[in-house]
Amino acid sequence: MKCLLLICDGMADRPVKTLKARTPLEAASTKNLDALAKAGICGIVDTIAPGIRPGSDTAHLAILGYDPVTSYTGRGPFEAAGVGLEVTAGEIAFRCNFATVDEKGLVVDRRAGRISEGTEELAEAVNGIELPGIDIRFKASTGHRSALVLSGEGLSHNVSESDPHEEGVKPHTVKPLDDSLEARRTADVLNRFILECRRVLAGHPVNVKRIQEGMRPANTLLLRGVGVAPSLASFSEKYGLSAGCIATMALVRGVSRFCGLDVLGADAEASISGLVKMALDATSEYDFVLLNIKAADDATHDGDAEKKTAVIEEIDRAAAGLLDFTTENYLAVLSDHTSSISRRDHTGDPVPILIAGPEVRTDDTAVFSERAAAKGGLSRIRGQDIMNILVDLMNRSEKFGA
Ligand SMILES: [Zn+2]
Repeated sequence: MKCLLLICDGMADRPVKTLKARTPLEAASTKNLDALAKAGICGIVDTIAPGIRPGSDTAHLAILGYDPVTSYTGRGPFEAAGVGLEVTAGEIAFRCNFATVDEKGLVVDRRAGRISEGTEELAEAVNGIELPGIDIRFKASTGHRSALVLSGEGLSHNVSESDPHEEGVKPHTVKPLDDSLEARRTADVLNRFILECRRVLAGHPVNVKRIQEGMRPANTLLLRGVGVAPSLASFSEKYGLSAGCIATMALVRGVSRFCGLDVLGADAEASISGLVKMALDATSEYDFVLLNIKAADDATHDGDAEKKTAVIEEIDRAAAGLLDFTTENYLAVLSDHTSSISRRDHTGDPVPILIAGPEVRTDDTAVFSERAAAKGGLSRIRGQDIMNILVDLMNRSEKFGA
């Protein structure tokens, strides 16, 4: 018996005016998800706690059964692990943006003209930077995104970030956030690193070419999300299940890697139905497979209700292949957090969940939506309850007491 956990990133929403006060999930035609809801049990989930706006990283940690408050050590290490950089104890990691500064040093574009080519060459130049006693590992991710890992004696993650999160101002100087020698030294190291980045990136052939072609150069790095490597119990040992993860998003891949799931290759260009098929195939090898589909969250950040609705319909078409799976296996479908079209960001509203499988105690829910699921038999649960419920349905749980 296998289990597939389908996380539709940011799919849940609030009622949207342009959709006649329906959510995109309510507005979309979703006959397959509705059939799964009807065949299963529904409810709503506070992935962290009621009213707390989850990040995708903390939400995925909670859904995988980890206490997000104690296990979260900053976004940087998850991002770095997601792009394939090892982060070990004592090292600090950041997520970075390639960005553009003008001759006065003011940030004119936090995403360097949404750079998509040449970032690997730029990364090579950054990796060539030498700082005494410090080992630098830097890797470009998708688009303007990248990750940085620093190792060396006496580094602290208790430092501020350089990303000002706005344009028209200078990047922040990194400051120590406590009085320790380590924090002061780390801030010093980072400020020197950023200065060196400016130097090696400014005259880099990739940027010379970008300027010639009228594009913005990636002439600096903005650092944020500092953190140290978390030490997390292995998912497989925790639940006695072999586990794999399919996700196109580096952050989710990173979370999965730290939890000990096998991160399976997923092409960033793969279609939603291709990803679902990949996940179903992976269940022949693993007891448990997590599949993250990012597209609905992306449409939300663009504030595009119609696109989000269309993405949900695409997910629904891909879900046609899942009904058969639930005759002998368990499937859970949920969103990791609500993403609001009007706010263009995550919100703390609970998300709908459905669980279908051979011995699920079904309820009367026949539609998969935020409001319909709220009337379901699972009621209102926390993200950290989900794995316990699934493992118990699979008859793999341990008895508490005699
Ligand atoms: Zn998310």
